[in-house]
Amino acid sequence: MIQDLFQKVRNRAIPLSPAALDVKPDIPENLLYKCPRCQTVIFMEDFALNNKVCDKCGYHARLSVPERLNITVDEGSFVEYDAAMQSGNPIQFDDYTDKLRRLKKVTGLNEAIVTGECTIRGQRCVIGIMDSRFMMASMGSVVGEKITRAFECAAEKKLPVVLFTASGGARMQEGMVSLMQMAKTAGAVALHSKKGLLYITVLTDPTTGGVTASFASLGDVIIAEPKVLVGFAGRRVIEGTIRQRLPDDFQSAEFLMEHGFVDMIEDRSHMRKTLSRLLRLHSQGKEAAQ
Ligand SMILES: [Zn+2]
Repeated sequence: MIQDLFQKVRNRAIPLSPAALDVKPDIPENLLYKCPRCQTVIFMEDFALNNKVCDKCGYHARLSVPERLNITVDEGSFVEYDAAMQSGNPIQFDDYTDKLRRLKKVTGLNEAIVTGECTIRGQRCVIGIMDSRFMMASMGSVVGEKITRAFECAAEKKLPVVLFTASGGARMQEGMVSLMQMAKTAGAVALHSKKGLLYITVLTDPTTGGVTASFASLGDVIIAEPKVLVGFAGRRVIEGTIRQRLPDDFQSAEFLMEHGFVDMIEDRSHMRKTLSRLLRLHSQGKEAAQ
């Protein structure tokens, strides 16, 4: 009799036809998110509520400008600078104009950075946020110009600057014009610094190339999100040049903190509080000095 029962179970296990295998389960798109680091599958809604941080391993996914603004600035306080500024094609690079047009449509942004003025828990500052969806937030003439203007404006208004960096480096489609932005932005940071004003950099994933080699490394306080990639040249290029194997955690925020390039690693959920505290401490110091 027991054997009969097992027989019944076996009979039910009929192999599916190839046509049946093609039927996709009725799961709405974007319902689930698979963490690329620990492979945990999370409901997208929970992931979004957790500011796109995996609650199993702490992986910090990249954020768009609207998402970053939403979790950083006080509601309704953000006023954008130079919103309409757009890149030309200074060296007539093939397909560059079309690519820019496509990206503007997809991202809803005019360029890879948004700058403006806001308050963070009541502390007024100039803010800049880079968006890796737009040509990997590479720095061309408009990114450089918007950053320069943001620092000049902050210097004039005597405001601190908070910059969230994320970039693949200089924008090759603009050739030498993009490389010039390194010196230009560094000059604007120096102008702001000479007035004794605070500049906080927040390094997010990934911050590399000419951006690391200019304004991203010039903050008075350099904060990084956990485990983000920060570097200049890529690992393979360096290993090929120096003919040595690099440590596994090379170019991670933790490695850079250990070697003195980063001052603080802060979780996304505490970032707003930490920024407002730093801004407040600095403004108090300035008031006392006056
Ligand atoms: Zn994870």
